[in-house]
Amino acid sequence: MKKNIPVQKNKIYSLQIHGLGHRGEGIGKIDGFTIFVEGAIPGDEIKTKIIKVKNNYAIGRLEKVIAPSTDRISPPCPIAEKCGGCQIQQIDYQKQLEYKTQLVKDNIERIGKIKDIIIHPTIGMKDPWNYRNKAQFPIGEEGGVVLGFYASKSHKIISTDQCLIQHPINDKIIKIVKEFINGFGISIYNEEQYEGLLRHVVTKVGFTTGEIMVVLVINGESLLHSEKLVNRLKESIPNISSVYLNINKKRGNVILGKDNRLLYGKEYIVDYIGDIRFEISPLSFFQINPVQTKVLYEKALEYANLEGNEIVYDAYCGIGTISLFLAKKAKKVIGVEIVEQAIEDAKRNAKINNIENVEFYAGKAEEIIPKLYRQGDQADVIVVDPPRKGCDEKLLDIIIQMKPQRMVYVSCNPSTLARDLNYLEKGGFKAVEVQPVDMFPHTMHVECVTLMSRVEK
Ligand code: SAH
Repeated sequence: MKKNIPVQKNKIYSLQIHGLGHRGEGIGKIDGFTIFVEGAIPGDEIKTKIIKVKNNYAIGRLEKVIAPSTDRISPPCPIAEKCGGCQIQQIDYQKQLEYKTQLVKDNIERIGKIKDIIIHPTIGMKDPWNYRNKAQFPIGEEGGVVLGFYASKSHKIISTDQCLIQHPINDKIIKIVKEFINGFGISIYNEEQYEGLLRHVVTKVGFTTGEIMVVLVINGESLLHSEKLVNRLKESIPNISSVYLNINKKRGNVILGKDNRLLYGKEYIVDYIGDIRFEISPLSFFQINPVQTKVLYEKALEYANLEGNEIVYDAYCGIGTISLFLAKKAKKVIGVEIVEQAIEDAKRNAKINNIENVEFYAGKAEEIIPKLYRQGDQADVIVVDPPRKGCDEKLLDIIIQMKPQRMVYVSCNPSTLARDLNYLEKGGFKAVEVQPVDMFPHTMHVECVTLMSRVEK
């Protein structure tokens, strides 16, 4: 039977917002029926125009804030509302952290059904701006050249001169690239017609070294006058270390192609997390917020509570960052990761840091770890850091069989974290404490480190 739906498309309603959805939308109810409104925040009283009606919920557009929430601030970025990068700049930063803690609590209680657990307040940044070390600016044409970020859920480019969450050097780079495009009439890629040359500008900054890399992504083999651009960049930015052309002639949303040509400088830039050195090339993965990454991994290390004689597994190890952190305190660390290139990077990272007590394997964690276990590699501590969908059940089953004394679960998604903690508790572990860390201020993302202890023998 179809339920009575109390709202109609295109009509305007008054709405009290009382919750925040996982994408940062405000949530309110009309006669018990849920309405999601992007840009509204808990405590706001608003007028909303309903733009989509589904069986169980509707989506409204924010028409007007009638009485603002006490948590509402005016977003410092002038394009915060249009740009898809930040979702909750209109919420006071301390309050953002409180919402994130609450989100974690709700998930652990509702999905995880775990009660006696300590959930610490989210660790935020002292200065929650200019925290990103990598920017990817799409370039398009709309009247003139537009260079900026995509709007929320769309490929419309919102022109940007300055992005407050990126490293400030990007403002200069954007300006120089725009002047270059206009000055030399550089052809711009059109992603609907698959024509034109320049597609994206990607920048990377080593926060501790100050080294800067600029990558120009083109749909072609060469960029005419690129030496002029390199000279301009060198003149204005003394720390520029590396300029690349990246060839991407494929249609679709993947930003970088496989082929890189060095136009100027070094093949890679260097950055450190703690005292571990990383060499970052155009295609290599690196954590986006290096300051908070250190906070997160130090917490993981603290929870692992290593004395020096443990064998530790690091499942979903990426380029081995956590493994290398742990290796300094463990007897041996075994890292497993599905992407072969990441494993090659992990091995190289171990080598350049002279860390010898690590082994890395490429493959699915749920397949490799059971094999290693059968060969006799026991585990004292297991760390997992899965993607958003959480751990594969096969992996959780083998962890339950392996009976490590402790587990450290690093997660970027509180709902799959809660689901997996519940599964592990049924298998003889106890979730002891959770530390949320804010890796992406002004977005709804929250990262958690959880300590689990073995309770059944
Ligand atoms: N711990 C890493 C990042 C983890 S992100 C770091 O600190 O850098 C999650 C990682 O899991 C990604 O690198 C992804 O490639 C990998 N992954 C996804 N599915 C996997 C699987 N089934 N087995 C192993 N690794 C997987």
